[in-house]
Amino acid sequence: IKRIGVLTSGGDAPGMNAAVRAVVRSGLQAGLEVYGVNNGFAGLHSGDIHKLDRYSVSDTINKGGTFLGSARFPDFKKVEVREQAIEQMRERGIEALIVVGGDGSYMGAKKLTEMGYPCIGVPGTIDNDIAGTNFTIGFDTALNVVMEAIDRLRDTCSSHNRISIVEVMGRHCGDLALWASIAGGAEFLVIPEADAWDEAKLLQQIQDGIAKGKKHAIVVITEHVTDVNALAKNIEGQTGLETRATVLGHIQRGGSPTCRDRVLASRMGDYAVQLLVEGQGGRCVGILANKLVHHDIIEALEEMVRPFDKELYDLSQRLF
Ligand code: ADP
Repeated sequence: IKRIGVLTSGGDAPGMNAAVRAVVRSGLQAGLEVYGVNNGFAGLHSGDIHKLDRYSVSDTINKGGTFLGSARFPDFKKVEVREQAIEQMRERGIEALIVVGGDGSYMGAKKLTEMGYPCIGVPGTIDNDIAGTNFTIGFDTALNVVMEAIDRLRDTCSSHNRISIVEVMGRHCGDLALWASIAGGAEFLVIPEADAWDEAKLLQQIQDGIAKGKKHAIVVITEHVTDVNALAKNIEGQTGLETRATVLGHIQRGGSPTCRDRVLASRMGDYAVQLLVEGQGGRCVGILANKLVHHDIIEALEEMVRPFDKELYDLSQRLF
């Protein structure tokens, strides 16, 4: 293999730059030429593809977002659009592609692989919702943002005897909420993997907490579970305590990546290059028990499920 491409796709995540940097630097070390694709699959299709050298990735390791740009490009689901994208790479002699992104981006990478064009998936998403890896690039940074937000809310909650609901991202994965609630010492946690959503039960738990002498409370909840503003009204109605909902939103996506995310991204980007050098295509990279691993990207998407960390959830319940 002589020439590879790299792109970032889907929701951006802090650490994506560190991953691209590692791909470029390790690729060059291995004697490869590395091409960067701007704006994800959209740029792949339009041919927005440029050769990168080691200085193209200077001063990027500490930056959030992705300097290559990202895009949502639903047209990539069409086979003729993917054929044109493959043609763009063949014209330039690019033999394989590293895709840094979430599960949607993995779908795109899987489809290209099925069409005979080898891709390697690198998990870049703050949601931590990818099968075959304990951690995704960006999760740790987002988690620290959520933890800090909870800390700040706690100050005002305890001063005013308020109840605070914090809605965090994660799509359908409760990891951000779970980890942040433990780290932030939240009183209540609602995540999609635990019991089915039951507002009455949560209201009762909050009531019980107040009866036991709790003067304030922080409820951490994953997005898409319920309307948090309506929930705040209902809690306030039932408890008589002022209740506010805070939706952290895209604040969770920004900022300089943490040390953990930079190192994880560097390891994964480098590993993706090593796999291509060894002649392996159609794989996705993960980290399990601090060991880099790779899986078949088709199998990972079709058959693997992310296990729910029940032990960590049970711990969170014991500490409330
Ligand atoms: P994420 O990668 O963060 O999950 P998306 O779900 O938006 O983000 O996916 C990113 C991009 O991946 C989409 O805009 C599209 O270009 C591509 N993609 C998603 N699903 C598919 C699919 N089923 N087939 C081909 N490409 C897809």
